[in-house]
Amino acid sequence: MMNTTKIFASMRLLHRISKLSERKIHEIPLTKDHYGIKRGPYASVTDQDINQFERILSTNNQILLRPEDTAEYNRDYFRYVRGLGTVVLKPRSTEEVSAILRYCNIRRLAVSIFGGNTGVCGGSVPVFDEIILSMELMNRIVSIDEYSGLLVCEAGCVLAKLEDELSKKGMIMPLDLGSKQSCQIGGNLATNAGGIRLMRYGNLHGSVLGLETVLANGEVIDLMSNFKKDNTGYHLKHLFIGSEGTLGVITRVAMSCPVAPTTQNVILLGLKTYNAVLQTFLQAKKQLGEILTSCELIDQASLEYTVEHLKTSSPIDAFPFYILLETTGSHKEDDEEKVRQFLEFSLEEGMVTDGIITSEPSKIKKLWQLRERIPAATYSNNFCLTYDLSLPLEQFYSIVPAIRKRVGHLVNIVCGFGHIGDCNLHLNIAGNILSEEIRKLVEPYVYEFTASLKGSVSAEHGIGLLKPGYMKYSKSTAAIALMKQLKSIMDPNGILNPYKVLPYN
Ligand code: FAD
Ligand code: ZN
Repeated sequence: MMNTTKIFASMRLLHRISKLSERKIHEIPLTKDHYGIKRGPYASVTDQDINQFERILSTNNQILLRPEDTAEYNRDYFRYVRGLGTVVLKPRSTEEVSAILRYCNIRRLAVSIFGGNTGVCGGSVPVFDEIILSMELMNRIVSIDEYSGLLVCEAGCVLAKLEDELSKKGMIMPLDLGSKQSCQIGGNLATNAGGIRLMRYGNLHGSVLGLETVLANGEVIDLMSNFKKDNTGYHLKHLFIGSEGTLGVITRVAMSCPVAPTTQNVILLGLKTYNAVLQTFLQAKKQLGEILTSCELIDQASLEYTVEHLKTSSPIDAFPFYILLETTGSHKEDDEEKVRQFLEFSLEEGMVTDGIITSEPSKIKKLWQLRERIPAATYSNNFCLTYDLSLPLEQFYSIVPAIRKRVGHLVNIVCGFGHIGDCNLHLNIAGNILSEEIRKLVEPYVYEFTASLKGSVSAEHGIGLLKPGYMKYSKSTAAIALMKQLKSIMDPNGILNPYKVLPYN
């Protein structure tokens, strides 16, 4: 029978800051040099511009000019990129965003939009001296309506704060990310963030009912809606979801939020083969049905590396694969019965060999940390190449052994994990020195492999600064040309987040 008694007493989940993120700001290479980017035809900020910004922004603490204050806005969370922005503006209202953009557009001043700065692709910080538009002061919740499930808030609200406020009314956000203590809802929309609830609640294209955005010329476009059903004309909101700040600044959001579940179970299963993973996933969908919230894959290398490097432990070990399942629902006995039947079936059929199930909040947290801390463990190396791929389930894992064969002997770890329930694999390759040899063995191989299966080279993290050159592996030349046309209509002077998303060379 299932081992449900393994205790977590020895689990010490230390919050270790990774080596990459230990880099001092001046140790991060300047983006422009590192990636050989040529400055676009933009104006440079003058004293008159600062005077104008001071007129637009009502209080002094809305403008940062001292290098020691602006430094943090010039580097990303992962310490991959560093810009040279000298001015940070913090608008408090849509009107202020509009006035800033109108002025910058006339002056041809480029603008970089800064949310919670947790993005993975270097999109949130400037490359050169773009004006940094930080959304942090636009953090008001306008309304929460428990009858319709409607949340209306400003774009700078931090995801965890929204979650806290919703929980007071028995509701939850339809998305949950490991970065929720810092990331903002505007950044979530701009990146079309996925996360661990996507399997249950779908992506943001479904749960965002409406948004307000400011175009590059300062025009405010009101696409707010309080309803799930609204077929009046083209669905423009979708253009802004996932546009990574290149088409407009998102200032306000209307979201459909589900009722909070009252029961929760988390199950960690050990499996011997990838075929067993597939069969177990299928059974989980069939038998757990509407209560299945997440289905995550963790491979042996991911688990062992995380356990070793974060000085923690796992209640089950030595399996080639693990599945982490979460169920949430509203009827304890019904949920438990479903879970029991699923586990019995999986054990009897020989798909699953060992596992653990818990409904205790502290143990749930610890099981989830085995999955959520994998990136931190791999980032504890000097370099970590990270790929975020959508792949068909049958070939979902095959890229991992293929890469291991190519570079396993040259690096410290090659591991695969991620949201198998959404066909989204995270592939991390980490080591001491990122040589040209390693890079050439990995790229473009990873991208070509993904393209050959008609997958996506960016399942959830976006394109940002780091990946414009790889978009061609997932989008046709005609599709990219249409994107460029849209950009030139909506931002003819190219002032919003230049050098990002669209291939620039
Ligand atoms: P930022 O990093 O500030 O910006 C991201 C992009 O959006 C930039 O191009 C920026 O210019 C633009 N932008 C920001 N705000 C606005 C706005 N108001 N209007 C227009 N453009 C804007 N991502 C996932 O998808 N799934 C995960 O499970 C996940 N887990 C993560 C776990 C950790 C520990 C970390 C560090 C990151 C994780 N991420 C994940 C990536 C990241 O958290 C998400 O991409 C998040 O949505 C970014 O939000 P942000 O507010 O930090 O945006
Ligand atoms: Zn992810």
